[in-house]
Amino acid sequence: MSKKDYYEVLEVSKSATVEEIKKAYRKKAVQYHPDRNPDNKEAEEKFKEVAEAYEVLSDENKRSRYDRYGHQMDNMGGGFGGFDFGGAGDPFDIFNSFFGNSQSHSSNEGNSRGSNLRVKVNMTLSEINKGAEKQIKIKKYVSCHTCNGTGAKNGDAFKTCPKCNGSGTVVQVMSTIFGRMQTQTTCPNCNGEGKIITEKCPDCNGEGAMIGEEVIFVKIPAGVSDGMQLNLRGKGNAGKRGSAPGDLIILIHEEEDPQLIRDDNNLIYHLLLDFPTAVLGGEVEIPSLEGNLKIKIAPGTQPNTIQRLSGKGLPTINRYGKGDLIVSISIYVPEILDAEEKKIIEKLKERENFKTNVSIIEKFKRKIKQMFN
Ligand code: ZN
Repeated sequence: MSKKDYYEVLEVSKSATVEEIKKAYRKKAVQYHPDRNPDNKEAEEKFKEVAEAYEVLSDENKRSRYDRYGHQMDNMGGGFGGFDFGGAGDPFDIFNSFFGNSQSHSSNEGNSRGSNLRVKVNMTLSEINKGAEKQIKIKKYVSCHTCNGTGAKNGDAFKTCPKCNGSGTVVQVMSTIFGRMQTQTTCPNCNGEGKIITEKCPDCNGEGAMIGEEVIFVKIPAGVSDGMQLNLRGKGNAGKRGSAPGDLIILIHEEEDPQLIRDDNNLIYHLLLDFPTAVLGGEVEIPSLEGNLKIKIAPGTQPNTIQRLSGKGLPTINRYGKGDLIVSISIYVPEILDAEEKKIIEKLKERENFKTNVSIIEKFKRKIKQMFN
């Protein structure tokens, strides 16, 4: 079975720049990511294929070798140090290092990036309306102060790695059918750091990081909604021995409002209107995110009438304009009446105008007639 050409996999030309390759990879990796394609074997295969192609084409050395020998290099056997082909490389690691998102698979223990943290932040509708600044106290791995995150005693108990002479990489020379070939790999002795700790920092036991606390200020933009995530680069767990920290992922949780219901960027308020005001008309107060508002009720307002207050809803994230406040009106009917009230209502019941078997238009016509009689 022949393998697909890496350039074809990423859909780039043979002369594509590093930037073009990166862009192509980003697009395809997101498209085929298993999170987006649960239980889709085909997408999973594509995801691996794309990662493999990117791994080779993004590396100048590997790319030029591939250009010269193509997939032939796969068949040279395991002795071809440093090249992880045929699914041996973890496509997630490539994806994560590209997107700065350490999901779970972290293979490079000694020099690994700090892990991501997730924290839920509650937002009221008023906060969502205006945007909010939140203070979050989180427990996490922080860089060790004593050794400045290096893991070495006093921050300087190092010596140059004797295996790689401080370069962090080692060169392997192999004899193959194509002749002698050199490959560069991460120095296994120092994990690519180029130096070795001679004495561990006693405070963090050489890790360079320890459990601590940090208060983080985060600005949450107006218009967010439940389940949205904000990524704070580098605010997650500190990495070991000076390696990059993870991210802090803020998960938005929208608190239920006691009076207003959110519908996208509109707000809905159910107004239970008293019967006399519905009949006579008047003014009532309703809640909004900018304090109470007075709205006019027309005489003869019917149940299920809707009033739309334009621009009194929520903003949309990263867009201009606001939604509406929709007032949905129903009429309150008293459940218990005293003798006098009963008398009044019974009197009203006698009146032709209070009967429901005439249309609103007919009632209206009759009113006009009454006015001229
Ligand atoms: Zn330390």
